[in-house]
Amino acid sequence: MRRLLFAANWKMHLGPADAQAYMDVFLRSFQPAPDRDVWFFPPAVSLATVAARLNGRNDLLAGAQDVHWEPKGAFTGAISVPLAAQAGARAALIGHSERRHVFGESDADTARKVRAVQEGGLVPVLCVGEKLAERESGATLAVVQRQLAAALDGQDGTRLDRIVIAYEPVWAIGTGRNATPQDAAAVHREIRRWLGQRGAKAARILYGGSVNLKNIAELVAEPELDGVLVGGASLDPVGWTQLVSVAAS
Ligand code: PEP
Repeated sequence: MRRLLFAANWKMHLGPADAQAYMDVFLRSFQPAPDRDVWFFPPAVSLATVAARLNGRNDLLAGAQDVHWEPKGAFTGAISVPLAAQAGARAALIGHSERRHVFGESDADTARKVRAVQEGGLVPVLCVGEKLAERESGATLAVVQRQLAAALDGQDGTRLDRIVIAYEPVWAIGTGRNATPQDAAAVHREIRRWLGQRGAKAARILYGGSVNLKNIAELVAEPELDGVLVGGASLDPVGWTQLVSVAAS
């Protein structure tokens, strides 16, 4: 049976007080279910608050939105994997499109970060996805393959099985225009094939990009999707609880 993963990327929203109020609402209304996990990626300042409220539940997890690849040092404004772990993180988003395209993070940076996250014992959630012009020119699969190869080069199946991949087409993030389940599934199949060639069988592959209460049911009905990574629609605890409670086939 698929174990669905619903991941909330709060981006630059919900400071510690808001995060605490959010988790109170969420935990009151969402009971553990055998077929799903819910992961939260709050801003760094709220990480410890969220992690402390998970009450040891195995289905819930807190993670960092980004980390530096060095474990410590003179990197003003950055957080390292050990610092994130100390605040309660058990996973980290790597290569989110806003990191790549707003902050200029390179494929080489994502590779260093994935390694650092693995060495620190956290789960990397590697984000990949094409820009609109790349999709329109038919380069989607080539872009995704390049991002996978750059970030995961030389990793064997055992390591790859502990990674989560989030396919997030850049043109769908925060735009209100989601990929169809069929379009997402075509890319997921290619990612699964790429991982399978390297011996991985169990890595979970999420779709992200304008997921909301209206489209979640048809997205999770697509068996290629192991879950979703959600930005805007994860910010309201009532709506998020409804979204993660969607019936799954
Ligand atoms: C995201 O931030 O990863 C994302 C998919 O955002 P949104 O759901 O708002 O498109």
